[in-house]
Amino acid sequence: ASLFTAIEMAPRDPILGITEAFNADKNPAKINLGVGVYYDNNGKVPLLDCVKKAEAILMEKGAPRTYLPIDGLAAYDKAVQELVFGAGSAVINEKRAITAQAIGGTGALKLGADFLQRFAPGAQVWISDPSWENHRALFESAGFTVNNYPYYDPSTRGVNFSGMLGALQTMPSGSIVLLHACCHNPTGADLSAAQWLEVIQVVTERGLVPFLDMAYQGFGDGIEADGKVVRQFADAGGPLFVSNSFSKSFSLYGERVGALSIVAVSAEEAARLLSQLKRVIRTNYSNPPMHGGQVVAMALATPELRQLWEDELAGMRVRIREMRQLLVAKLKEKAPAHDFDFVIQQRGMFSYSGLTKEQVSRLASEYSIYAVDTGRICVAALNSTNIDKVVEAISKVL
Ligand code: PMP
Repeated sequence: ASLFTAIEMAPRDPILGITEAFNADKNPAKINLGVGVYYDNNGKVPLLDCVKKAEAILMEKGAPRTYLPIDGLAAYDKAVQELVFGAGSAVINEKRAITAQAIGGTGALKLGADFLQRFAPGAQVWISDPSWENHRALFESAGFTVNNYPYYDPSTRGVNFSGMLGALQTMPSGSIVLLHACCHNPTGADLSAAQWLEVIQVVTERGLVPFLDMAYQGFGDGIEADGKVVRQFADAGGPLFVSNSFSKSFSLYGERVGALSIVAVSAEEAARLLSQLKRVIRTNYSNPPMHGGQVVAMALATPELRQLWEDELAGMRVRIREMRQLLVAKLKEKAPAHDFDFVIQQRGMFSYSGLTKEQVSRLASEYSIYAVDTGRICVAALNSTNIDKVVEAISKVL
């Protein structure tokens, strides 16, 4: 027997499993709506022009590949901080915010989880029901007990806000509450502005620790609008954790560009937190990779590239919205007995479509259309070529 004889096979990643099944499907007309990636109207993952231009400038410069500082490229951290909290915001002016480049949004969450485990080991973590499936795994692997607060209400296809608020009102003080800043994954159901204000009030009053995950800034109602809740939380004081990702908004999935920001109550506290956060990074991977951070820093800080990025991001956002409208309009024709209007209200790349596990399974076996068995479809994978097939198939399995 080897040392590892007793080790069992780990469960398969549910989302990656869909891609495997999709890849194995021989039908040339197959469609994958199970992904978490934005595709353009030609079904391709875009390489943004702002990225190409920034890369051209970087190539021209031909900078040596030294190590970055432990907390990443300073210009990147500064640009991210201004994007997330607003240039000239109180937390930045008062030096109460710290930001460290991270290995994507996932890396940012992991840093935050490890940091909190060191300094708040007794706290429990609360995530939405449902949430991005890696949230639970990340915080559990950092050593936390992870609970769910009510979030999605299948009967209204919206947020069970009274349930959520009730849970926030009864969690022990010091609990860590993970919130999706915008474009909730997997449901697409976001809080209204008024509901956010209530959440901020309860979280602040009850001494809960908010951890905002913002993986889709710019995919909901715009860069400013989507980031607003982060600023409102920051204005409410500290502590506040914010993980953000450029995987989607810059279409830089494989470059792994994200950041963790923490808001402290004073500049002096912020300096202590940063020194400790650097230790967490140092003992994980020492320092982050250069390329993606350089591209994003240059695009955010160069006015012409910044404008280009905002326009390209708006293009992605608008295309997703159009696909939502089109999906609903076409389903109205093909399946008039079913109401899909909620799909238009949802935000971001995803829709909890209301399709059952059985219906999703039939879509795959009979039509080679793949979705997550919770009914989550990626609206950003729809395009003018595949949407009719998707609508036809959905109308048949309903
Ligand atoms: N949080 C949420 C809610 C996400 O959906 C994702 C990506 N699917 C992430 C974090 C992680 O982002 P990244 O791919 O940059 O690690």
